Amino acid sequence: MAALTPQDIAREAVKLLTARKLPPTPDNFQTVYHEVAGTRPLRPFPLENLRQIGNGLPDRTPGQLRFKAQFNKAVSMHSWEDLEKALLNHFRNHHTPEPTASAVAVVEEKAFPPELLEQTARIIDHALPAVGNDDTKVVEQAEELVNYLRLDSQHPATLRKMMADFAFRLSFVAEEQEQIRRTLLGLLHTVFEQIDAISPDNPWLQQQMAALAEATQPPLSARRLEDVQRRLKGLIHQQALAREQTQEAQRVMKETLGVFLERLAQTADNSDKYQLQFENCANRLEQAQSLSDMAPVLQEAIQSARAMALDTRRTSEELHLLRERATEAEAEVERLRQELDRMSEVASHDLLTGVLNRKGLLEVANRELSRAERMGIDVCLAVLDIDDFKKINDEHGHLTGDGALKHLADVSRRSLRPHDSVARYGGEEFVVLLPDTELEEAVAVITRLQRELTTHLFLEGDKRLLITFSAGVTRMVGTESSTDALNRADQAMYAAKRAGKNRVVAV
Ligand code: GH3
Ligand code: MG
Ligand code: MG
Repeated sequence: MAALTPQDIAREAVKLLTARKLPPTPDNFQTVYHEVAGTRPLRPFPLENLRQIGNGLPDRTPGQLRFKAQFNKAVSMHSWEDLEKALLNHFRNHHTPEPTASAVAVVEEKAFPPELLEQTARIIDHALPAVGNDDTKVVEQAEELVNYLRLDSQHPATLRKMMADFAFRLSFVAEEQEQIRRTLLGLLHTVFEQIDAISPDNPWLQQQMAALAEATQPPLSARRLEDVQRRLKGLIHQQALAREQTQEAQRVMKETLGVFLERLAQTADNSDKYQLQFENCANRLEQAQSLSDMAPVLQEAIQSARAMALDTRRTSEELHLLRERATEAEAEVERLRQELDRMSEVASHDLLTGVLNRKGLLEVANRELSRAERMGIDVCLAVLDIDDFKKINDEHGHLTGDGALKHLADVSRRSLRPHDSVARYGGEEFVVLLPDTELEEAVAVITRLQRELTTHLFLEGDKRLLITFSAGVTRMVGTESSTDALNRADQAMYAAKRAGKNRVVAV
């Protein structure tokens, strides 16, 4: 058969790996490669171990000395072949005697009790998952050791060495496992603290986090960890619920705030400044995604509302002040009116026209009556009522009306005799008292007054107004009261009105 090329060997090696279902690790590949090629695997040369063996070789006989020298030379040259040769020569040249009974006893003495070996193998088997399957080296080493322990017999030095190596590696792995455990716990605590810090305003969550942090304090047990896991799941569920509720609350709050801002904007209808501010807040609120977005908007709206309330209060205070002033002024007017009434009660003259008022007229009338009776003379009395006076007021205003009243009073005073009396009896009603005058004469006097008014027109600005009146004239009887005479004259005046106005009727 032709010699295999390195490529052929490699291909065969891969096939073999697949057939044996071995993972294609470099070690496995190397092993099957050498198997296919029929060569030896290149293993690291155990120089130290072999040197130790070489130093321990006996050197009492020349044969022993020679063998020791050959052995040590092969070791120092790292040559497995020289080593093999030295060993074979030595055993070929030296007859190996049958072991004596005592020698067997020594070997048996050094052998380990099988159940102890099996126990050790089981310990390693059980402990292996605990130290982790991540470290392939320790797994390999453990498997090798377990296999060796389960062999029929073991070389004590080899076993010791394997155990020492395994213990050495195990110490590293255990330390690493402890490190991982501590780091994981630290991470867990950091997570708890972070959740705690995220929700500082959630006492329930803080309580839960504190309990979890407490539960993960060493010493840990699987049961405690399971408990922590269960609580965390519960917490996550609660958080999800709370989030839903918060979102709902946010929605309601957003809606309520919207209505609130709308109302405020309506309230601020007459104030452009506030209306703009509230509309701006409402727009920003619509964009808000979370409570933290809403908070500043709300704060601004509250500030604007406060400012508006302050303004409104200021305005209402001003209004209040104005109202108070108005009330005061009203009270003053009322007081003055009462004062005027009181004064006019005391006075005997009319303030507007300067002629006698009703009180003055009655005084004069009574005096004239008693005088007339005493002296046996007549006293006549006329009641004058301006015609269509309402029309004058309506057409020219009340002040013009007042002017007309004064005009009539003035004209009357001027055209009458000094001892005649003129009085304003009511609104546009006048009474003329004519002492020592007969009825006919009295009618003539009053008729003359009517004519006077037609020649002396009432001038108001550029207006010239003709004022006419209707009059009733009567003679006062000594025994009657002035009121009776007044009533009679009044009746006559009405008769003049009915007869067409601007005339004098005697009764
Ligand atoms: P008639 O010819 O029937 O007398 O009609 P008139 O309009 O003169 O009489 P009426 O009684 O209907 O109206 C009198 C008006 O006189 C009503 C009132 O407003 C007005 N008057 C009364 N006193 C005063 C006053 O002091 N000043 C003014 N300007 N008007 C007065
Ligand atoms: Mg009248
Ligand atoms: Mg009148």
